[in-house]
Amino acid sequence: MKIAVIGFGAAAIGLLERLKDSDHQIHVFEKSKDIFSSSISGIRADGKLFVSTEMGGDIYIDPLLQRRFVDYYINFTDGKQVEKGRSFASEAYYRKFYEKGFLPVSSDFFHIGTDQLKEVLCNIYDQFSRSKNITFHFSLEVTDLGVTSKGVLLNNSEEFDLAILAVGRSGHKLINKTISLYPELVKNNTKVDLGIRYELPNHIVDELNREMYEFKVKFKSRTGYMVRTFCNNPSGYVVTENYGDFTTVNGHAKMREKSSNTNFAILASLVLTEPFNDPIGYGSYIAKLSNLLAGEGKVILQTYSHFKESKRTKNLYRVHPTLEPEKFILGDINLAFPRRIIESIIDFIENLNAVVPGVANNDNLVYAPEIKFYSNRLNNQVLQQLKFIGDCSGATRSIIYATAHGYMLGEALLGGNFNIDI
Ligand SMILES: Cc1cc2nc3c(=O)[nH]c(=O)nc-3n(C[C@H](O)[C@H](O)[C@H](O)COP(=O)(O)OP(=O)(O)OC[C@H]3O[C@@H](n4cnc5c(N)ncnc54)[C@H](O)[C@@H]3O)c2cc1C
Repeated sequence: MKIAVIGFGAAAIGLLERLKDSDHQIHVFEKSKDIFSSSISGIRADGKLFVSTEMGGDIYIDPLLQRRFVDYYINFTDGKQVEKGRSFASEAYYRKFYEKGFLPVSSDFFHIGTDQLKEVLCNIYDQFSRSKNITFHFSLEVTDLGVTSKGVLLNNSEEFDLAILAVGRSGHKLINKTISLYPELVKNNTKVDLGIRYELPNHIVDELNREMYEFKVKFKSRTGYMVRTFCNNPSGYVVTENYGDFTTVNGHAKMREKSSNTNFAILASLVLTEPFNDPIGYGSYIAKLSNLLAGEGKVILQTYSHFKESKRTKNLYRVHPTLEPEKFILGDINLAFPRRIIESIIDFIENLNAVVPGVANNDNLVYAPEIKFYSNRLNNQVLQQLKFIGDCSGATRSIIYATAHGYMLGEALLGGNFNIDI
């Protein structure tokens, strides 16, 4: 079969790993200039790999398969340093959180580091480019696709028996266009996670960071919203993320360069109900409103006490932001966020303070907006000649889940199963 794979990120890697050296002729179309270009792939992001059945996506992925892909990525580091650990390995820690109403999320983690991921991706690409049935086409953005009687026509020029979309979040334009042509592909779309990035001195969370590199907990707040931590970065840096028409906040940790602060996201999960069906629009408007207050391309920074009291922050005290000064404005997040979200986050921080004293210190830092969008969950059983893998399918949200998802589709295709429900 002549197969088009659109996008070369984590999901495509899993798929190609299964289909390399098979009888299928595979053409990979990637919009980035080349493998060295800095924009290629969300996989470049932060390099934290998890093995967990409780996070990473909305489908079940066998932990053994997950672990296999962790080893796969680590093998491509050429033996460089990888941090390892387990969240809530200690029963005592698990209980400490549980007693205060938290739901601790267990996982094994491995951290490759942003700086090393670039090399990993190049090594993987090298391996695939030696496979005789795979051809890469860089600088080729697929902007248009149409299902025909025989297959799929890409960019109105070349026809394939099967097209597999692995475009991640950054491929939302192509996904939206495809959905508007074939609305029956959408299974559901109701969720968005809205919140803040929290930054505090390392010494407050030292014990926690020593115990587990990545602490993930969920908490049912008194507002009814489920609130969770996400992407903990000990000795890390807060950064901004540009979505084109708005800017959000994010965080990362580098393997070599360390700060004296820890940052993590605190997110409230909203599940919107019918007839409303545009959670991405809702989240984007809140982000834009925050940017309107902060100035274009900037995020709002506030101390925790002012966040609680709804007062604009004018000066900082002991905690120094790791985000570059030109990327934030001191302000009041309450002017942009709905009350129920603010209350959920405060409730979360106050309760966390009972487990980790100092977390609710007045001068800790709150950055907004931090938003996690969920892609529409797409149905791989509607069109035989069109499949979706990784984050663009709405089934995954992590490197390992996306890679495994791609691999699982590859496995199904090799077995002649074009109607797999994943
Ligand atoms: C800032 C940030 C930090 C993250 N940190 C982590 C982390 O530490 N651990 C973790 O597990 N996950 C992390 N993630 C999530 C992770 O990166 C994704 O879940 C994962 O990369 C999804 O894989 P994917 O193959 O679906 O998409 P991607 O890896 O994003 O790959 C999609 C590819 O498709 C290409 N593309 C898009 N549109 C087109 C088009 N129209 N034509 C041709 N090519 C196209 C893109 O250039 C890209 O190379 C992070 C994400 C972000 C944004």
